[in-house]
Amino acid sequence: MKNRSARFYTLLSVGAAVLTILLKTEAYLLTGSVGLLSDAAESVVNLVAAIVATWAVTFAAKPPDDEHAFGHR
Ligand SMILES: [Zn+2]
Repeated sequence: MKNRSARFYTLLSVGAAVLTILLKTEAYLLTGSVGLLSDAAESVVNLVAAIVATWAVTFAAKPPDDEHAFGHR
């Protein structure tokens, strides 16, 4: 397995969350089930979490600067 960056995996997670929301919304439109609609709405939480994680690992990867001599991890 290739050694990919943490950012790659968090972006993969964003993509999976978007795909999940789209599939659940499509399932709701096909069936009219409000259970599926609420499940799709709940999946938005996963998307927000993945976006926050992407921001965090991107920030952590910044090189050292004057205020953070040992980097941002
Ligand atoms: Zn800094």
